[in-house]
Amino acid sequence: MLSEIFYLKCIGCGYRSENGLPICDDCIEELEKHPHECESCGYPSNIPAKVCGMCKSAVYRDRIRIAYKYKGAIRQFIKEIKFAYRVTGAKTLKKLVENEMIGDYDIISDVPSHYSRKLRRLNHPAQGLAEHMANLTNIKYAKILTRTRRTEYQYKLKKNERHVNVMNAFSCARDVDGLRILLIDDIITTGSTTEECSRILKCSGASKVDVFALTGGHT
Ligand SMILES: [Zn+2]
Ligand SMILES: [Zn+2]
Repeated sequence: MLSEIFYLKCIGCGYRSENGLPICDDCIEELEKHPHECESCGYPSNIPAKVCGMCKSAVYRDRIRIAYKYKGAIRQFIKEIKFAYRVTGAKTLKKLVENEMIGDYDIISDVPSHYSRKLRRLNHPAQGLAEHMANLTNIKYAKILTRTRRTEYQYKLKKNERHVNVMNAFSCARDVDGLRILLIDDIITTGSTTEECSRILKCSGASKVDVFALTGGHT
């Protein structure tokens, strides 16, 4: 009777999850990857592409990799960890990036969440993901960027407002001269935030800034 009440329900299919995570193994298996990636910048594409629109608009960021399409169980999952305060979120993130390949970097870091937002969320998925990827690869995790002011949630804004929203919203809190950095975010909407972070890092002397996100891009 008690086990009936306390079993973990999968946020994807609604059935019992046996792996101790809020997404069952079957639903993780079914998460969709993007069909193609731009050869130059790595941004997801629906067709094979040597260059894409993102290459032109994202000039500071080097390469980007977005693991899953923003659909199915991952949509629910991002909502859960961002807004429903599920403490198991970070553990699931780990499972989801277990097989992701990571190149050569000096530091792995994350897109910072605003302090007040962090309090509301209780956990910060981008940081959890970054720390896990650092553990997986023996690359050092470090906090590099801090938010200098509050910003509105990007998803609430129109596309052309998003760049302005994050402009000068970050500062670099440590010496990054000559460093190759992998910047982690949980979800990428237009890429404006990670591009602004990349701009700050490059202007502070970073030699390379690649971005990894759990989900986002074209649906
Ligand atoms: Zn499921
Ligand atoms: Zn591209």
